[in-house]
Amino acid sequence: MNLVNLDELMASAPVLLDGALGTELLRRGLEDGACPDSWNLQHPDLVAEVARSYAQAGSQIVLTNTFRANRIALQPYGLADQARAINRAGVGLAREGAGGHARVFASLGPSGKLIAAEEIGEAELRAAFEEQAAVLAEAGADALVLETMSDAEEAAIALAACRRTGLPAVVSFTYDSGRRRDRTLTGLTPEQAAARMTDAGADAIGANCGAGIAEYVEICRRLRAATRLPLWIKPNAGLPEIENGRPVYRCSPEEFAERVPALLEAGAAFVGGCCGTNPEFIRACARRLGPPCA
Ligand SMILES: [Zn+2]
Repeated sequence: MNLVNLDELMASAPVLLDGALGTELLRRGLEDGACPDSWNLQHPDLVAEVARSYAQAGSQIVLTNTFRANRIALQPYGLADQARAINRAGVGLAREGAGGHARVFASLGPSGKLIAAEEIGEAELRAAFEEQAAVLAEAGADALVLETMSDAEEAAIALAACRRTGLPAVVSFTYDSGRRRDRTLTGLTPEQAAARMTDAGADAIGANCGAGIAEYVEICRRLRAATRLPLWIKPNAGLPEIENGRPVYRCSPEEFAERVPALLEAGAAFVGGCCGTNPEFIRACARRLGPPCA
């Protein structure tokens, strides 16, 4: 296996990531409330098309459509026994779409259940993440990315599962709670998350989703002060407003890209977008960054 070395990638930092997947699939006909990850099996061509659109826009790394593909998160959709097939297909489709122009990092999201509330046990969580991480690695992912995490215990269990594969592992939390929107849903600060995940052996520390890129410049600065690891930042296109029952994001690609230099100055090495961003955002960021100097 040709192992990706994050340090080597960092030599050409900043590294441009991709934008949102879920909203791109909705645009292609995914129904509200349906499981986006199931499209790896039902509409593989459309999933590969999203990866292709990001690679063509300038993404140097694209993520797999496997955010919900741990068996605990798949259970409410009745898809738990398809976890392996969904993950395997997800890597292949991102690879196909990337067409050799982008690396494929595999996405793992939270289980949706809280250990502290006794909704799930640690052993069940560990088994679910070990299964997902192992399939993603077997299928040829270049690295693993734990995204939208909020609970330190769950993230630590998931990170340990990722590290068993030998692939580099990024751990990214979402900061959108608390009075100043600088905490995770479970109350974790950037400093706490960075310290805990650095100790736990993460290869990069991140922040994704959240209130928007302006807010994440400050989060990034705080992460920078708390860890020496590379920083991975994927903000939303602002906070969504609900229109006709659907989220609408007001931040334009240009407004987003304008803030990218501030994000780099704050210490980000990997930059992309989360909910509400699309290939236009990545194209605008690529124009800001200029051609990669690899
Ligand atoms: Zn998001």
